[in-house]
Amino acid sequence: MYRTHTCGELRIENINQTVTLSGWVQRVRRLGGMTFVDLRDRYGITQLVVDEKAPEALKANIEELGREFVVQVIGKVLERQSKNAKMPTGDIEIDITEINVLSPSEVPPFTIQNDTDGGDELRMKYRYLDLRRDAVRENLVLRSKMAILTRNYLDSMNFIETETPVLIKSTPEGARDFVVPSRMNPGEFYALPQSPQIFKQLLMVAGFDRYYQIVKCFRDEDLRADRQPEFTQIDCEMSFVEQNDVLETFEGLARHLFKEIKGIDPGEFPRMSYAEAMNKYGSDKPDTRFDMIFNDITNIAKGKEFAIFNNAEYIVAIKVDGASEYSRKQLDELTKFVQKPQIGAKGLVYVKYNNDGSIKSSVDKFYDNDDLTSWAEFCNAKPGDMLLILSGEQTKTQLQMCELRLEMGRQLGLRDKNNFKPLWVVDFPLLEWDEDTKRFHAMHHPFTSPKPEDIGLLDSQPAKVRANAYDLVINGVEIGGGSVRIFDSQLQSKMFDLLGFTPEQAKAQFGFLMNAFKYGAPPHAGIAFGFDRLVSLFAGLDSIRDVIAFPKNNAGRDVMNESPAPIAQEQLNELNLQIVKQQKEA
Ligand code: ASP
Repeated sequence: MYRTHTCGELRIENINQTVTLSGWVQRVRRLGGMTFVDLRDRYGITQLVVDEKAPEALKANIEELGREFVVQVIGKVLERQSKNAKMPTGDIEIDITEINVLSPSEVPPFTIQNDTDGGDELRMKYRYLDLRRDAVRENLVLRSKMAILTRNYLDSMNFIETETPVLIKSTPEGARDFVVPSRMNPGEFYALPQSPQIFKQLLMVAGFDRYYQIVKCFRDEDLRADRQPEFTQIDCEMSFVEQNDVLETFEGLARHLFKEIKGIDPGEFPRMSYAEAMNKYGSDKPDTRFDMIFNDITNIAKGKEFAIFNNAEYIVAIKVDGASEYSRKQLDELTKFVQKPQIGAKGLVYVKYNNDGSIKSSVDKFYDNDDLTSWAEFCNAKPGDMLLILSGEQTKTQLQMCELRLEMGRQLGLRDKNNFKPLWVVDFPLLEWDEDTKRFHAMHHPFTSPKPEDIGLLDSQPAKVRANAYDLVINGVEIGGGSVRIFDSQLQSKMFDLLGFTPEQAKAQFGFLMNAFKYGAPPHAGIAFGFDRLVSLFAGLDSIRDVIAFPKNNAGRDVMNESPAPIAQEQLNELNLQIVKQQKEA
């Protein structure tokens, strides 16, 4: 028997028991004639002690121990002289009589403790060692709990967990596919699913009624903190439902997770139209933990000598409470912030509504006190507040102001990680114009249904058509999204047509779905939550990397197993593949 107890288990009640423990040596301390060893496993740390009077052989064994050795010890539980209230096992220690080294360890490349000395790349290379650290492992324990709670909730609602294939035919979800060459079908490729979208819709045609899957999806995109080439979704689909049924069911899931994991009830999730979100926050994933809502001052700020405003399509102000005392330096820094190439504003205008009631702005040359007062009133500013103003082309300016608003929220400490503000964003546009290809793209995906009341606009004003599509947003993070689907093959054909597919192309890519719809497709709708993002939000992390056991780095590489990697010529031959090295032009 390797152990009678774990390293996190023994308490004062166990005194005088003889126990066997196994685990990793966290550290060895020698104090006078005594040696103390911290033995660690997933459950905790237990202090072992060997005193001067111990047999020589035992003392010699202890002498050999190094960090991260795996050992088994036998000994008696003693009450500690000096207790450690910070450790659950801090009242006891084990007076050991036997120690067996099960597996020695080389000196690890970084210390395995919460405040480790290892840098990011090193910890990624030795991910299995990093995973020994509590802070990292706890994120994965949280992930496991959340997966189980999700399964239990959906199971209790009659959802059937169904696996869908990983080697599929490409389904467009807006990103690039990863592809896998087929050995048996030379020159042909599978794609890895960007999501199981078509399969879950086919399961509805099959009468499954309610489907879910916690499933890996793959998208070949440039990586960011909240993106990995492979990621996990809680993917769902329901039949005979309307949008509201999906929102209620999945709001239920989110609230269940909040209650069970965080012990909180965030209340009913507000619903906001896409148009309102863009107007008020310049974003379809607004962080509603704080206000600083956009005020469109285009009409009241034009008409004076200030050409920049007069030439602008849109002028927007946010009111920052209590910020009238921002210094020159702070304002210069904010100007630099909005001028960063990633944000791209030309400049920033401020209006300080001082505590004494006076008003001071960076555009005093062009606007008098009455003008500025009218802006302040329009924005509901009170003495002590400050307005920050950007102007330009509407969409760009909204995005810039969105970044500035988030930055102000951060500076003022309004983005507390323990404050959760979920909402549904609904009524997304069905289509999105792509300037590069001069074509419409589906904003969600091609299977999303237009709002019935907007179907009439499909031919005349396609850009105005709203979709029955929705996103769950929490604290400015898009946690999930879905839509009511088209279940009529004619409407689906029309949609493919709008998206620029010829009937032949549509048939070649989606023929099987269109065929399926000929055999009795129920009305259906669905959603997918990004599971990694949800877990990282609950864990209070900014990146999804630390809720993934073996993540890739920003270049899409696994630095631990060094993939991607070349394959042998033999393999290439079998797959009928040839690597064409691109010659650099002379
Ligand atoms: N397949 C969609 C996605 O991955 C979600 C859905 O429409 O259900 O975003």
